[in-house]
Amino acid sequence: MAETIFTKIMAGEIPAEIVYQDEHVAAFRDINPKAPHHLLVVPRKVIPTLNDVTAENSGSVAKIFEALPKIAEQLGFKESGYRAVFNCGPDAHQEVMHIHLHVLGGRDMTWPPG
Ligand code: 5GP
Repeated sequence: MAETIFTKIMAGEIPAEIVYQDEHVAAFRDINPKAPHHLLVVPRKVIPTLNDVTAENSGSVAKIFEALPKIAEQLGFKESGYRAVFNCGPDAHQEVMHIHLHVLGGRDMTWPPG
C-alpha cells in the first residue's frame, strides 16, 4: 500500500497528537489548526481523493463517519456543533493525497467557508 504522511503518523513514524484510533481509522490534531479543535480523521487504508471512492473501498469511508460522533463527544463539542469537511483536488487545495475528514470545533463557524 502507498505510504503517505498520514500512514507514517498512524505508524508512529511521525509524531502527532492522536486523539482516537481503532482498526479502521485514526484521528489526530492538525499541525496547523484553524479552530480550537481541528482534527483529521483518516482511514488506515489509503484512498488518494474522494474521486477514488468505489464500491470496494467505501466501507473505509463509512468508518470515518462511525468514528466521528465518538470523537466529537470525547472532545466535548458534540452538542455545541462542529464543521466536517473534505477537500478534493486543486480548487479545494487538497495537499495530502490520502482522504481525510477535517473536523473543526470549539468556536462559532462562518458560512460560506473561504
Ligand atoms: P488538505 O489540504 O489536504 O485537505 O489538508 C491537509 C492537512 O494536513 C492540512 O490542514 C495540514 O495542516 C495537515 N498536515 C500536513 N502535514 C501534517 C503533519 O505532518 N502532521 C499533522 N498533524 N497535520 C499535517
